[in-house]
Amino acid sequence: MKALTNAPLDAEIIAVGSEMLTAERVDTNSLYLTGELNNLGVEVVFKCVIGDHRDRLADAVQRSLGRSAIVILSGGLGPTEDDVTREAVAQALGRQLIFRPAISAALEQRFARTKRKMSEVNKRQAFVMEGAEVLLNDRGTAPGQWIEASGSVAILLPGPPHELKSMFARECLPRLARLVPRQAIRTAFLRITGMPESDLDALISPVYKKYQNPVTTILAASGDLQVHLRARCSTVAEAEALLSEVTAPIAALLGDRLYSRTGDPLEVVVGNLLRQQQATVAVAESCTGGMLGARFTSTPGSSDYFLGGFITYSDRLKTDLLGVSPETLKEFGAVSPETAEAMAIGARARTASTYAIAVTGIAGPGGATEQKPVGLVYVALAGVAGTLVVNRQFLGDRQRIRIFTTQMALDLLRRRLLGLA
Ligand code: ATP
Repeated sequence: MKALTNAPLDAEIIAVGSEMLTAERVDTNSLYLTGELNNLGVEVVFKCVIGDHRDRLADAVQRSLGRSAIVILSGGLGPTEDDVTREAVAQALGRQLIFRPAISAALEQRFARTKRKMSEVNKRQAFVMEGAEVLLNDRGTAPGQWIEASGSVAILLPGPPHELKSMFARECLPRLARLVPRQAIRTAFLRITGMPESDLDALISPVYKKYQNPVTTILAASGDLQVHLRARCSTVAEAEALLSEVTAPIAALLGDRLYSRTGDPLEVVVGNLLRQQQATVAVAESCTGGMLGARFTSTPGSSDYFLGGFITYSDRLKTDLLGVSPETLKEFGAVSPETAEAMAIGARARTASTYAIAVTGIAGPGGATEQKPVGLVYVALAGVAGTLVVNRQFLGDRQRIRIFTTQMALDLLRRRLLGLA
């Protein structure tokens, strides 16, 4: 086994089944398997879905076994002609499939218990690779197989998720734990806002590119950036020490744009700050139509600091509910720093909150003018120390502009709570 070396082990997962190459079904077994393998310190480096096609599958199995120490296949162990996993793996390994009468007898008994007669096709499930260990299936008919070959192991598991999970936990985890050298995988999650992905990468890549371990990935979604660093070491302590070594210079470069080192989203970070400072917040939303309030209230316990809000889409409600004067609306328009400021002041006064955030903008696609293009947004933050109004020009569709706006609004409050500029 490659496992007998001290090198970290890699795994590959092959999901077998033509149904997962349609738009209707998705491979979820590999997610479960990846989580379990990661807990053992094994990294999944490649996974794929292959239809019920013997030659294609045999080809993929051969390649995977040539590259990785652990190759797990799920599905295609049923009794019918289109269940080709056994044959494909035998073909890839150049091994015979041998009929095991004991498995056939056990299958017959299983059918007998439910007063059914086993059909002839089910005997296909009693064929096992030369040299394989049989993995018991306590939830279904298809037995699994554990086959060691040329320093790697191929593991054949049934497709139905409840069968696969039960078999993997009972039959495979103890075997893998014996084979796998002591390894630990730990991940650091950094979250950043207020900069584009390309700038983030240019800033921090000189640090992370020096390291093959941890592996660094950047994820970007609507104004929110995440840096994930995955360290793989022999012990948890080593992995954590390595992560500290790499994240410290990255954090220093990011400065106050780094808002979370735990993976918490911005609304949670802001909520925690509000709670710590025993402060409250209310919102007044025009173009985001409640999205900002929804983000605040997506966190359990947000009633500690979130008082509520106003969705004031029309000019009339901006006046009736928030006290924005008709003159302000007439002179400067609904999308203006003056209206944003008046909305925030009105929301704060009417809710007696510590802070109030108001949002007004043009989410598009209609409603733009030459001076006020689609994506122009004003956010106002009212507090004891006065009211701050900022504006941005976002690009993109309506939904993207609105999500960016909530991100910007939350970050404005985070900065105020931390006393940042
Ligand atoms: P059986 O003895 O039940 O036929 P099998 O090993 O042949 O077992 P498949 O026929 O390939 O399994 O799949 C049975 C069902 O299990 C599929 O219809 C699908 O619902 C589910 N399944 C298979 N593979 C996966 C997967 N990778 N992720 C999630 N579900 C899966």
